[in-house]
Amino acid sequence: MGGIRKEVVYSGTPVSRGIVFGPVHVVARGFSAPEVYPIANVARERERFEEALRRTRQQLDGLREHMESLSGNEEGRIFEAHMLVLEDPIVLEGVPTAIEKRRQNAEYCFYAVMQNQLESMRRIPDPFLRDRTTDIEDVCQRVLRNFDSEPDESASEAPEHQHILVAYDLTPSDTAAMDRHQVLGFATEQGSVTSHTAILARSLGIPAVVGLRNAVFNLHALDPCILDGYEGKLISNPTPDTVARYRALEELHQQRRAKLDKLRDLDAVTTDGRAITLSANIEFEHELDLVERSGAKGVGLFRTEFFLLESEECPDEEKQAALYSRVASRVAPSEVIFRTLDCGGDKVPGEPLSEPEPNPFLGWRGIRFSLDRKDLFKEQLRAILRAGASGRVGLMFPLISGIGEVREAKSLLADCVEELTARGEEFNPEIAVGAMIEVPSAAMVAADIAAEVDFLSIGTNDLVQYTVAVDRVNPRVAKLYRASHPGVIRLIKTVIDGASQHDIWTGVCGEMAGDLVFLPLLVGLGVDELSVGAPLVPTVKQAVRLLDFEKCSALAHSCLQASETGQIVQLCSEVARATYPELLQQEGGGATAPSFAVHPS
Ligand code: PEP
Ligand code: MG
Repeated sequence: MGGIRKEVVYSGTPVSRGIVFGPVHVVARGFSAPEVYPIANVARERERFEEALRRTRQQLDGLREHMESLSGNEEGRIFEAHMLVLEDPIVLEGVPTAIEKRRQNAEYCFYAVMQNQLESMRRIPDPFLRDRTTDIEDVCQRVLRNFDSEPDESASEAPEHQHILVAYDLTPSDTAAMDRHQVLGFATEQGSVTSHTAILARSLGIPAVVGLRNAVFNLHALDPCILDGYEGKLISNPTPDTVARYRALEELHQQRRAKLDKLRDLDAVTTDGRAITLSANIEFEHELDLVERSGAKGVGLFRTEFFLLESEECPDEEKQAALYSRVASRVAPSEVIFRTLDCGGDKVPGEPLSEPEPNPFLGWRGIRFSLDRKDLFKEQLRAILRAGASGRVGLMFPLISGIGEVREAKSLLADCVEELTARGEEFNPEIAVGAMIEVPSAAMVAADIAAEVDFLSIGTNDLVQYTVAVDRVNPRVAKLYRASHPGVIRLIKTVIDGASQHDIWTGVCGEMAGDLVFLPLLVGLGVDELSVGAPLVPTVKQAVRLLDFEKCSALAHSCLQASETGQIVQLCSEVARATYPELLQQEGGGATAPSFAVHPS
């Protein structure tokens, strides 16, 4: 050790644009990588390892006895299982051998050996073994803490300097809680472009890459790195040439963005006069600064669950009304559309579940939770109605699967109107009410639903997942997750037709809306509104302003005849490349287009 490390390029999927430079901070699943340093005295490191094991065994014994005295043998067995991890030859022999070979400190060798072991277990398709990884992670964390004479409770906390975060996986709440000033960008081994972790990264403007194999295991703490959120790369120990090339690229991107910012006050209208309402998706109030700078026409999707599920308890009506009113008055005279609580799926459940759901995306999500927890739902509805007194407000219901849910939700809304009237509260009883169309059954009956609401907003992230039956956060099947599947495109058309039958507007607020490859198709199919992460607004606006609606309609017509995904990608990329080649080159296709649509092989 000690010499200059070689440049290594890790490739993954870009999910949030931007180029950043900084030291890396590696977080394995559940615990941080310890500091790594070269050692001269192998025997001493082995002793330190033995000592950490001894302390851990002692603690586990104590915990087992404690649990047994409280609740009998059953609970104590957990710690017996933890103890067995420490008896495994992989630990007892593997770590001393690693110390000898790697000549690195004991805790880092222990960490590296265990990460390797955990990774192989995660890949075994046996649920029992996979579950055991949680036990092992737990023990590892304990052993790592026991390397310090004073157990360090902050071992897994973020460092207090700017860094690029690399993790096996991050939850949406990890991402939401990131300190924007310290975390320059992040990369994960898991994840997908439409996971909420990726969506949040885009909204917050944090460059991010997912699907980087082996990065956690191979990277060393504080390695200098470059994260390229355009091409999906993480480069550790870059050479001076690489750094210079990326500095120049970064500069170029900044100049291009500065040009796009000039469009701020212009409308999103095609060359032949078709106007599109281009609004922004947000999760937090602080994103309104970005929204204002982006030139978006209001907020087309406020994902309220990120605010509501931030704390242990759901904020009450007063707190919600205060937040929604502040947002409404800031966005006025444009509209803000609050989506009612959409918990579950890959987000936090609405309330702690006694047992994890086997299929969370098919489970207690979105409107299903709200209709089962009417008291909470009505607090939110009243808060949104009250915000209607401060600005132009709309609301929409997530994960509608049929008209019954819309009617039930509307009837609760009518109850709330009565309750607020009786209380003499200031509110707007006339706010626009919409349904999100993200389930194929709802898309098929969109015309019926359209008769009940003021607008339809297509959540393509979920619509794609449910139509092609591909979990939106599972990287193993990510290549099957295709917004361009003919089934998806025909469903979108069904929704738009259903809405036009009742003279109401249709929007798209899923990630597909910000995808430059599919933009001509969505415009051609006749969407009225597109809602995208605020940082994407200028790019999408520029693209819309270069499109010709008639050509887009012809493209839509051809795509509706197509029977294969590849054909649709091809047709769309031809139009996109002919219309805005530079924009496409510099920004990439966006979240849902396969990269070969942008750079055909
Ligand atoms: C969608 O599903 O497209 C959507 C906008 O909602 P979310 O991504 O929050 O599920
Ligand atoms: Mg959704």
